[in-house]
Amino acid sequence: MAEVRLEKVCKLFDEVVAVDDFNLSIQDKEFVVLVGPSGCGKTTTLRMIAGLESITSGDVYIGDRLINKLPAKDRNIAMVFQNYALYPHMTVFDNMAFSLEMRKRSKEEIKERVQEAAEILGIQGLLLRRPKQLSGGQRQRVALGRAIVRKPGVFLFDEPLSNLDAKLRVQTRLELKKLHERLATTAVYVTHDQIEAMTMGDRIVVMHNGFIQQVGSPLELYDRPANQFVAGFIGSPAMNLFEAELSGAGDGVSLQAGDFTLELPPDKAMYFRDYTEQKVIVGIRPEDFKRAAEHSPGQTIPATVEVVEPIGNETYVNVTSGDVMLTAAVGRRTKIEPHSTINLIPIFENMHLFDIRSQKSILGY
Ligand code: ATP
Repeated sequence: MAEVRLEKVCKLFDEVVAVDDFNLSIQDKEFVVLVGPSGCGKTTTLRMIAGLESITSGDVYIGDRLINKLPAKDRNIAMVFQNYALYPHMTVFDNMAFSLEMRKRSKEEIKERVQEAAEILGIQGLLLRRPKQLSGGQRQRVALGRAIVRKPGVFLFDEPLSNLDAKLRVQTRLELKKLHERLATTAVYVTHDQIEAMTMGDRIVVMHNGFIQQVGSPLELYDRPANQFVAGFIGSPAMNLFEAELSGAGDGVSLQAGDFTLELPPDKAMYFRDYTEQKVIVGIRPEDFKRAAEHSPGQTIPATVEVVEPIGNETYVNVTSGDVMLTAAVGRRTKIEPHSTINLIPIFENMHLFDIRSQKSILGY
């Protein structure tokens, strides 16, 4: 059993608050991804779990054991770093065997475990090479192999795919996911890449400025972002976020922004009793627009096409309506010319609204 639990964990570097009031329970065998922009505190959190960084306050448990003061080597964890940290003068076999030798395991056991890990990773043919004789992808596998041979209770990954080219990154993240299923070991994975987080995590922890913003499954975060930061961070192209003014009352609430007014359906309008005659932030994902043949006041957004981006499986248009800039997905092979006018209908069911001051969702999640 290797649950990982962080309770009220904080980390200060002199004046800098790197991680603040971090609370999270990671289940045994769960794959949890910490994601956020550079400097949000994700690596520091991982390093505190690993024992490579001291904890300013709060508690970290692995299983039932409080590990705040336990040396890294005694925590039953294995870490895979972005730069792989392989020993250049050692063969692949020796790199993978090293931690077991340090633990004084028998020669037979070491050989068996290295062979087994090499087989899982498909690197049996590379065991006698040195790191400089390997490609980036192969080095990455060796780094993984070095972690696997330990049979740890918890894997910690710090941006392990960042040094691979785009194609190999996609392939390797798939393999890592399969590997996780096969090894059934708790994993905490740090990345700044939200696509990597979405595709790999059972649960994702979105961080910003040292704080957890939201914890949830990939689609929970996508469909029900708790605040404006998560809404803008998860999803590519990003959710359209713009300021709008709500007016009216009861069933008749409308929203005004750019060159358009939208009448909100009653089931949305009911949330806004406290917000009428106030500004809010509206969020609409690019795929949550339909197109109308004509402009219909109160129902559609008339917009001027600025840029058309056909990417093959989808075409995105960047449009403006007054001072509001929007990106809309318009289908795979739609012909739209720059400078033309299109009329967009938002799918209200999927529309988000955020409080302009607190930036929290006002839809009750
Ligand atoms: P990145 O993706 O760029 O690695 P991150 O989200 O992993 O970013 P951290 O490396 O955890 O962020 O850093 C969080 C904050 O703590 C940042 O403001 C960083 O400058 C600061 N920080 C990290 N390590 C130290 C240190 N050893 N001394 C002082 N400040 C530090």
